Amino acid sequence: MNPSPVPTNTEAAQRNPGDEAAPGAFQTAENTCPECNGSGKRADQAMCPNCGGTGMVVVTVGDA
Ligand SMILES: [Zn+2]
Repeated sequence: MNPSPVPTNTEAAQRNPGDEAAPGAFQTAENTCPECNGSGKRADQAMCPNCGGTGMVVVTVGDA
């Protein structure tokens, strides 16, 4: 996969490595983080790096 392009929109909120798109972007939605299953923590209780401890990641939906 290609690395995500740097967004030119400075409105973009903090993004986590697991986010496929900027929060609030068109045709995106939050989804349970697949790395921690929404707990925000990994099995060793460390903060999940994929979602930044939120337990949620932003994914692209629809046909974008
Ligand atoms: Zn996570």
